[in-house]
Amino acid sequence: MRVREIACVGAPRTLLMAELGDASAPTVSIIAGVHGDEPAAPWALQSLVRDGLLDTRFAYRIWPCLNPSGYAAGTRTNAEGLDVNRSFSRGGTTPEARAVLTANRDRRFALALDLHEDYEAAGCYVYEPLRRGFAPRFSDAIVTALDGAGLPVQALSDDFDLGAPADADVREMYRLERGRVLVDYELELRVFPGLPSSIALMYRGTPSALTFETPRPRPWDERIAAHRVAVTTVLAGSA
Ligand SMILES: [Zn+2]
Repeated sequence: MRVREIACVGAPRTLLMAELGDASAPTVSIIAGVHGDEPAAPWALQSLVRDGLLDTRFAYRIWPCLNPSGYAAGTRTNAEGLDVNRSFSRGGTTPEARAVLTANRDRRFALALDLHEDYEAAGCYVYEPLRRGFAPRFSDAIVTALDGAGLPVQALSDDFDLGAPADADVREMYRLERGRVLVDYELELRVFPGLPSSIALMYRGTPSALTFETPRPRPWDERIAAHRVAVTTVLAGSA
């Protein structure tokens, strides 16, 4: 594993980026800790690397803690009070997003994963954005694997808050099923004022970019396990 420290231009901090595997293999981007108060995601990602659970048919570019100032403070936002998640539009509107977009400039990814936690959820769920005419590829397998592992899966209904802008037509943009949100990629691109890393990567050609959420109120070990199950299931199903 090669670890690099990437400068956040204009901010007094750096980001760690780890690269793993054979550089000629298809590369998977994995990001955790975009929100500083969602700690199971970075720790689960670190455990996946430590335990050798990342499928060796792929190479990896890993950002283990994308918002270190938020993580240290236990806040959703970074030290400047900005939500890093929705800051990947254009060249990036936070120092963290600019660092990632600059580092990724010449890279192609076969797949992207973004690991989060949700304070309001009682179970796990995954966002799978779909280009028009494409069927979901990964989310069904994740839900099945979570069920198989006895982990809680979130029942999603139209009143579940997914944080869309107030004027957005949520029913058109999201198809909600148990444990998964199928996102209309083109609509999401238009409706939100800022792009998350997943949608920004799809915009730059990554075929699939999933965002996985674990329920913050649940026990720590369960949330760690859920991230591990989700990541390993996606990798096993995408070779
Ligand atoms: Zn989050």
